[in-house]
Amino acid sequence: MARSEGAALLDLQRIDLELAREKAQAEHPAALERLKSLLATSKRVQALVTQLTGRVKDSEMELSELSAEQESLRREVDELKERARTEAMDHRQQAWANEQHASLMKRLDKAEFKGEEALETLDTLTRKRDEALAARERLDREISKVKADIRASVERAHAAISSLEGEREALVSSLDPAVLGAYERASSRFEGLAVEELHGNHPSICRMALEPRAVQEAWRDAPITQCPYCRRILIVGEEEG
Ligand SMILES: [Zn+2]
Repeated sequence: MARSEGAALLDLQRIDLELAREKAQAEHPAALERLKSLLATSKRVQALVTQLTGRVKDSEMELSELSAEQESLRREVDELKERARTEAMDHRQQAWANEQHASLMKRLDKAEFKGEEALETLDTLTRKRDEALAARERLDREISKVKADIRASVERAHAAISSLEGEREALVSSLDPAVLGAYERASSRFEGLAVEELHGNHPSICRMALEPRAVQEAWRDAPITQCPYCRRILIVGEEEG
């Protein structure tokens, strides 16, 4: 009974440390920070997609206005040519027609130049928007994957917690309530590291070398005593498991 009680305390401490680790894992899965940073990036990329989509639309509208303007200028040039061909014009009218023609051609040139520029701008914006869309797709896939990883790791942690809690319950019911009380107090005082083992003349946690007399006293009080240095529960003459 005495032998198993020391081993049981070491077991209890192992279970409690694992429980604390699994609970921390369930509350703050390791991939959560990565998910947060991916979501922040995704928000920025989405804003970029929205902005570029708007600019592509504006650019398409500008381009269609410019081609409508070119159409109308060409029509005016054609009409002017038709008039020059079909109507008898005096010098003054011809001079006016030439002037009109030159002015229309100048405006058409300008509209064509602007049209080329607008087409280039549209190409560039479309390419940028497509890149942003592809980046958003990659991010969405990555986010789903990280979310699935997080769900899986939380589920695994919960399964581990319930199995550890079952183990703990069985262990606790086999312990002397006074020993359990001492463990609980030491555990909260030493933040979970309440029980150490004596290896030779070294307690396993504080690792202070005990004087020969202290080792003798520890053996006299075996299997459960208290470390004279750190006041943790000291298990003497037992191996875990
Ligand atoms: Zn100690």
